[in-house]
Amino acid sequence: MKTLTETGALHDLQKLKSDYQNFIKENYEHHAASCETCPTKGACCLDAHFVNVHISKLEAVAIRKTLSKLNEKKQHEIYARVTETVEKYDLKSDGNSFAKTFACPLFEKNVGCLVHENGKPAPCISHACYENKEDLPPDNLQATVENKIQRLNRRTYGNRWNYLALPVWLDSINPFKN
Ligand code: SF4
Ligand code: SF4
Repeated sequence: MKTLTETGALHDLQKLKSDYQNFIKENYEHHAASCETCPTKGACCLDAHFVNVHISKLEAVAIRKTLSKLNEKKQHEIYARVTETVEKYDLKSDGNSFAKTFACPLFEKNVGCLVHENGKPAPCISHACYENKEDLPPDNLQATVENKIQRLNRRTYGNRWNYLALPVWLDSINPFKN
Protein backbone atom coordinates (compact mmCIF):
# COMPACT_ATOMS: atom_id res chain seq x y z
CA MET A 1 0.00 0.00 0.00
CA LYS A 2 1.42 3.39 -1.00
CA THR A 3 2.20 5.53 2.04
CA LEU A 4 1.00 9.10 2.46
CA THR A 5 2.34 12.08 4.39
CA GLU A 6 -0.06 13.46 7.00
CA THR A 7 -0.32 16.68 4.99
CA GLY A 8 -1.23 14.75 1.85
CA ALA A 9 -3.76 12.63 3.74
CA LEU A 10 -5.39 15.72 5.27
CA HIS A 11 -5.77 17.18 1.80
CA ASP A 12 -7.40 13.97 0.49
CA LEU A 13 -9.62 13.74 3.58
CA GLN A 14 -10.89 17.28 3.11
CA LYS A 15 -11.77 16.56 -0.53
CA LEU A 16 -13.49 13.29 0.39
CA LYS A 17 -15.58 14.91 3.15
CA SER A 18 -16.44 17.93 1.05
CA ASP A 19 -17.61 15.73 -1.87
CA TYR A 20 -19.71 13.64 0.54
CA GLN A 21 -21.20 16.75 2.17
CA ASN A 22 -22.15 18.21 -1.23
CA PHE A 23 -23.62 14.90 -2.38
CA ILE A 24 -25.80 14.59 0.73
CA LYS A 25 -26.87 18.21 0.45
CA GLU A 26 -27.85 17.93 -3.19
CA ASN A 27 -29.56 14.55 -3.04
CA TYR A 28 -31.05 14.10 0.44
CA GLU A 29 -31.10 17.14 2.71
CA HIS A 30 -34.06 18.80 1.00
CA HIS A 31 -36.23 15.99 2.41
CA ALA A 32 -35.11 16.79 5.96
CA ALA A 33 -36.27 19.43 8.45
CA SER A 34 -34.42 22.72 8.11
CA CYS A 35 -31.72 23.26 10.74
CA GLU A 36 -32.04 27.02 10.15
CA THR A 37 -35.57 27.12 11.54
CA CYS A 38 -35.19 24.30 14.05
CA PRO A 39 -36.79 25.21 17.39
CA THR A 40 -34.35 22.93 19.22
CA LYS A 41 -31.21 23.83 17.28
CA GLY A 42 -28.27 21.75 18.39
CA ALA A 43 -30.39 19.17 20.19
CA CYS A 44 -28.90 16.62 17.80
CA CYS A 45 -25.34 17.47 18.96
CA LEU A 46 -25.99 18.11 22.65
CA ASP A 47 -28.23 15.15 23.43
CA ALA A 48 -26.06 13.30 25.91
CA HIS A 49 -28.25 10.20 25.56
CA PHE A 50 -27.79 10.01 21.81
CA VAL A 51 -24.42 11.34 20.57
CA ASN A 52 -21.58 8.83 20.39
CA VAL A 53 -19.62 10.13 17.42
CA HIS A 54 -16.33 8.32 16.96
CA ILE A 55 -13.49 9.51 14.76
CA SER A 56 -10.16 8.22 13.50
CA LYS A 57 -6.76 9.76 14.20
CA LEU A 58 -6.60 11.54 10.84
CA GLU A 59 -10.02 13.10 11.44
CA ALA A 60 -8.92 14.27 14.89
CA VAL A 61 -5.86 15.92 13.35
CA ALA A 62 -8.09 17.58 10.73
CA ILE A 63 -10.38 18.93 13.47
CA ARG A 64 -7.38 20.23 15.42
CA LYS A 65 -6.21 22.01 12.27
CA THR A 66 -9.63 23.66 11.82
CA LEU A 67 -9.75 24.73 15.47
CA SER A 68 -6.21 26.17 15.22
CA LYS A 69 -7.60 28.91 12.97
CA LEU A 70 -9.72 30.29 15.84
CA ASN A 71 -8.31 32.82 18.26
CA GLU A 72 -6.30 31.34 21.12
CA LYS A 73 -8.81 32.26 23.83
CA LYS A 74 -11.57 30.42 21.98
CA GLN A 75 -9.30 27.42 21.40
CA HIS A 76 -8.54 27.20 25.14
CA GLU A 77 -12.27 27.37 25.83
CA ILE A 78 -13.03 24.55 23.39
CA TYR A 79 -10.25 22.25 24.60
CA ALA A 80 -11.36 22.87 28.21
CA ARG A 81 -14.86 21.80 27.13
CA VAL A 82 -13.35 18.71 25.49
CA THR A 83 -11.56 17.72 28.72
CA GLU A 84 -14.70 18.37 30.78
CA THR A 85 -16.69 16.15 28.41
CA VAL A 86 -14.20 13.29 28.74
CA GLU A 87 -14.38 13.54 32.53
CA LYS A 88 -18.12 14.13 32.85
CA TYR A 89 -19.12 11.18 30.66
CA ASP A 90 -16.20 8.99 31.78
CA LEU A 91 -15.05 8.47 28.20
CA LYS A 92 -12.11 6.11 27.77
CA SER A 93 -9.73 5.04 25.07
CA ASP A 94 -10.31 1.35 25.76
CA GLY A 95 -13.27 -0.99 26.14
CA ASN A 96 -16.55 -0.61 24.27
CA SER A 97 -16.57 3.16 24.02
CA PHE A 98 -19.40 3.08 21.42
CA ALA A 99 -21.75 2.28 24.31
CA LYS A 100 -21.08 5.67 25.93
CA THR A 101 -22.80 8.87 24.85
CA PHE A 102 -21.99 12.54 25.44
CA ALA A 103 -22.89 16.13 24.59
CA CYS A 104 -20.52 17.14 21.79
CA PRO A 105 -18.03 19.85 22.83
CA LEU A 106 -17.76 21.08 19.23
CA PHE A 107 -21.25 22.57 19.28
CA GLU A 108 -21.02 26.30 19.92
CA LYS A 109 -24.09 28.27 20.91
CA ASN A 110 -25.10 30.81 18.22
CA VAL A 111 -22.57 29.28 15.81
CA GLY A 112 -23.43 25.60 15.49
CA CYS A 113 -20.92 22.91 14.63
CA LEU A 114 -17.43 24.41 14.76
CA VAL A 115 -16.18 21.96 12.13
CA HIS A 116 -19.15 22.12 9.79
CA GLU A 117 -17.06 23.39 6.85
CA ASN A 118 -13.93 21.38 7.47
CA GLY A 119 -13.53 18.32 9.64
CA LYS A 120 -17.14 17.29 10.20
CA PRO A 121 -17.32 13.55 10.99
CA ALA A 122 -19.03 11.38 8.36
CA PRO A 123 -21.95 10.34 10.65
CA CYS A 124 -22.65 14.02 11.33
CA ILE A 125 -22.65 14.77 7.59
CA SER A 126 -25.15 11.95 7.07
CA HIS A 127 -27.38 13.02 9.94
CA ALA A 128 -30.47 15.20 9.59
CA CYS A 129 -34.04 15.05 10.88
CA TYR A 130 -36.02 13.11 8.26
CA GLU A 131 -39.72 12.57 8.74
CA ASN A 132 -39.81 9.55 6.42
CA LYS A 133 -37.37 6.71 6.92
CA GLU A 134 -37.20 6.10 3.15
CA ASP A 135 -35.77 9.60 2.60
CA LEU A 136 -32.64 8.91 4.66
CA PRO A 137 -29.32 8.47 2.84
CA PRO A 138 -28.67 4.70 2.60
CA ASP A 139 -26.15 3.34 5.14
CA ASN A 140 -23.83 2.08 2.41
CA LEU A 141 -23.00 5.67 1.35
CA GLN A 142 -21.52 6.45 4.76
CA ALA A 143 -19.87 3.03 4.93
CA THR A 144 -18.10 3.70 1.60
CA VAL A 145 -16.79 7.04 2.85
CA GLU A 146 -15.68 5.49 6.13
CA ASN A 147 -13.80 2.75 4.27
CA LYS A 148 -11.93 5.40 2.32
CA ILE A 149 -11.14 7.28 5.57
CA GLN A 150 -9.80 4.06 7.10
CA ARG A 151 -7.58 3.52 4.08
CA LEU A 152 -6.19 7.07 4.38
CA ASN A 153 -5.41 6.39 8.06
CA ARG A 154 -3.65 3.11 7.20
CA ARG A 155 -1.60 4.73 4.44
CA THR A 156 -0.55 7.52 6.84
CA TYR A 157 -0.13 5.83 10.21
CA GLY A 158 0.07 2.11 9.39
CA ASN A 159 -1.53 0.35 12.39
CA ARG A 160 -0.88 3.27 14.76
CA TRP A 161 -4.41 4.65 14.79
CA ASN A 162 -7.89 3.67 15.91
CA TYR A 163 -11.41 4.95 16.37
CA LEU A 164 -12.13 6.77 19.62
CA ALA A 165 -14.99 8.90 20.92
CA LEU A 166 -14.47 12.38 19.41
CA PRO A 167 -13.66 14.10 22.75
CA VAL A 168 -11.14 11.38 23.69
CA TRP A 169 -9.18 11.83 20.47
CA LEU A 170 -9.24 15.64 20.73
CA ASP A 171 -8.18 15.55 24.37
CA SER A 172 -5.24 13.30 23.52
CA ILE A 173 -3.94 15.69 20.85
CA ASN A 174 -4.80 18.91 22.70
CA PRO A 175 -2.05 21.34 21.60
CA PHE A 176 -2.22 23.15 24.98
CA LYS A 177 -1.50 20.05 27.06
CA ASN A 178 2.06 18.91 27.72
S1 SF4 B 1 -30.41 18.06 12.73
FE1 SF4 B 1 -32.51 18.19 13.54
S2 SF4 B 1 -32.31 18.69 15.75
FE2 SF4 B 1 -30.36 19.17 14.72
S3 SF4 B 1 -30.51 21.35 14.24
FE3 SF4 B 1 -31.15 20.18 12.40
S4 SF4 B 1 -33.37 20.01 12.57
FE4 SF4 B 1 -32.60 20.61 14.60
S1 SF4 C 1 -19.02 17.22 15.36
FE1 SF4 C 1 -20.40 18.91 14.90
S2 SF4 C 1 -22.21 17.98 13.94
FE2 SF4 C 1 -21.06 16.34 14.95
S3 SF4 C 1 -22.01 16.13 16.99
FE3 SF4 C 1 -20.27 17.55 17.18
S4 SF4 C 1 -21.12 19.61 16.92
FE4 SF4 C 1 -22.62 18.12 16.15
